[in-house]
Amino acid sequence: MKQISILGSTGSIGRQTLEVVRRHSDKFKIVALAGHSNVDLLEAQVKEFKPEVVGISDEKIYAREKHRFSGLTVLSGADALIEVAGLNKADIMVAAVSGMAGFLSTLKAVECGKTVALANKESLVAGGKIIKETAKKTGAKIYPVDSEHSAVWQCLEGNNSRSLQKIILTASGGPLYGKGSEELKNTTIEQALAHPTWSMGKKISLDSATMGNKALEILEASVLFDTHNIDYVIHPESIVHSIVEFTDGTHIMQASPPSMIYPIGLALSYPDRIDNDKMPFAFNKPLNFLPKDEINFPLPKLAKQALKTHEGAPLVFNASLEAVDYLFLNKTIGFGHISIIVAKILEEVDFPTLNTAEDVVKAHNEVYEKVLAEYNK
Ligand code: NDP
Ligand code: MG
Repeated sequence: MKQISILGSTGSIGRQTLEVVRRHSDKFKIVALAGHSNVDLLEAQVKEFKPEVVGISDEKIYAREKHRFSGLTVLSGADALIEVAGLNKADIMVAAVSGMAGFLSTLKAVECGKTVALANKESLVAGGKIIKETAKKTGAKIYPVDSEHSAVWQCLEGNNSRSLQKIILTASGGPLYGKGSEELKNTTIEQALAHPTWSMGKKISLDSATMGNKALEILEASVLFDTHNIDYVIHPESIVHSIVEFTDGTHIMQASPPSMIYPIGLALSYPDRIDNDKMPFAFNKPLNFLPKDEINFPLPKLAKQALKTHEGAPLVFNASLEAVDYLFLNKTIGFGHISIIVAKILEEVDFPTLNTAEDVVKAHNEVYEKVLAEYNK
């Protein structure tokens, strides 16, 4: 029985992880759950999965609602995440918090040598070097939950990493692929969040509409798989989750239904595979691979440039994207401003040197605050 803790259990990935646990209660046991503000859902999850430890990272909500969890160890504040991440009892920690709020807890789990099922790509984009160096020292394993990275991981299994030529991530294109610049400028929040294939949290849904998500995924893949040779292709059906090109000209692709249940299940059960619903392949339906639109969706190109520029540039990309996402979702800036501001910030700032976790947190906060100071008007 694998003992699992979930940080961000009330979010989209958290809920789907619990669905995997629900279907495979003979294999997985929940020992800790942490949410931020949605205590109604957290309470329901606690009743069903009976963890020993509960984290509520929003302190005000903790103070008001902790009585709901009497008899359990209830941790509060940002430190709650770090404490839950370090819990001795958990074999696997699912990092499912969204944004940089998940960084220190992800690092803590790695410091404790745990297996981390990593959905929180922002941690790796900003603090990849430190997380990887720490994992090397402690023996912690990082198994990707992001479907594209899970696909690359699976394609690389059994192959020598020296044979890796290129990673080609797939992208659904989000709700806006194919639209022209005039139409895109006036995109509303509702249009940006209406993803055609995936049901996800707000930030990643918006990032899918701007292609900022693919940009983060390029940076995430560079950390996970030690290469800068990463590209992407639009694949609207979201059946092939990524492709690896090998030095001998072979391409290996990974396919599964468009549901996070599959990559989450693999990250929890690896090296085994659990039973899942099988997808009867409809061989009479085409799978499309379409060209990217780097004119209207420039963020992935900016991310690739950032990779080549400086080790601190991905952090700047991530922090400025998190800040502009916040501003767009608060109706302070328009959709068309998102990539323009990220590009401008990447040109303006001095890239940080990132030797410690403190460097990462400080640099992230500085860039985030700079964007808010300049554009939150
Ligand atoms: P959601 O917005 O659905 O969930 C976010 C989770 O984080 C919730 O549990 C939320 O708690 C918690 N949270 C939010 N803010 C804070 C904070 N300041 N401190 C602590 N906890 C916080 O996001 P997703 O589940 O969609 O995404 C989570 C991560 O997984 C992201 O990094 C995303 O990029 C990645 N990912 C998601 C995919 C998906 O299909 N959803 C696919 C691939 C990667 P509460 O709701 O209680 O406030
Ligand atoms: Mg993804």
